[in-house]
Amino acid sequence: MELPELTILARQMMKEIAKRRICEVEVANPKCLNVPLEQFQKTIIGKTVSSIEGRGKWLFIKLDADYLLLFNPGMGADVIHFKPEDRLPDKYQIKFTLDDETGFTIRVWWFCYLHLIRADELGEHKLVAKLGMTPLDNEFTFGYFKQLLNNKRGNIKTFLLDQKNVSGIGNVYIQDILFNAKLHPMRTVSSLTDTEIEALYKSVRWVMNESIELGGLAYEKDFYGNKGGYGKGQFKIAYKPGEPCPVCQTPIQKIKTGSTSSFICSNCQPS
Ligand SMILES: [Zn+2]
Repeated sequence: MELPELTILARQMMKEIAKRRICEVEVANPKCLNVPLEQFQKTIIGKTVSSIEGRGKWLFIKLDADYLLLFNPGMGADVIHFKPEDRLPDKYQIKFTLDDETGFTIRVWWFCYLHLIRADELGEHKLVAKLGMTPLDNEFTFGYFKQLLNNKRGNIKTFLLDQKNVSGIGNVYIQDILFNAKLHPMRTVSSLTDTEIEALYKSVRWVMNESIELGGLAYEKDFYGNKGGYGKGQFKIAYKPGEPCPVCQTPIQKIKTGSTSSFICSNCQPS
């Protein structure tokens, strides 16, 4: 799950569970918590969900005015809404029940974080305090982006995936983001021209917004259990090794870039 999926989820959760009071919480994987389960339950039961927001790869769920529940789905999770008459999913680790007997379950694929903090402790939370702006923020302007890249070392792919620089882009969307901007993932940040930075800025925003419009990734579920519409048909080069580049027909290559894999067109994205 990257920024588009979490943004969609946050919007749907806002619609269904905002202003509802939490009555019951089950957590079968208490290792994901930052406090003992009993303390977690005692603190949040009776509190009201006041807002939900996607920040990078995190959901920020505000409880009353003074608490935050921070959820990170790790390698992926299904966060699914339920009504009293609904059959619950067969498998889930976490369940929230609200005062109108609706709620939601969370099924985690590998690991997740579910951290409860006081809102005024946000600046001290190691995993989220340093999160960069998301490309969907109003303040994420071209001027801001250009300034962000100024005097930075390393390659552009690593830079964009580092959540401290920009939050919410992962190894799925980055592929087409770089392709649209005609940038090889290993290009150094310092070598980018103003024209390339502008193309990259537009591409980041375009890919994120396009995916949100289509309901997010085709293999991730939203709050209602529906899969998104952004899949192989929408990808330009991502996960299409051997297929022709949509621009120049050169076969798409899968290459190793540090610890991640990249899909590139060697003609459109020269190193
Ligand atoms: Zn090409």
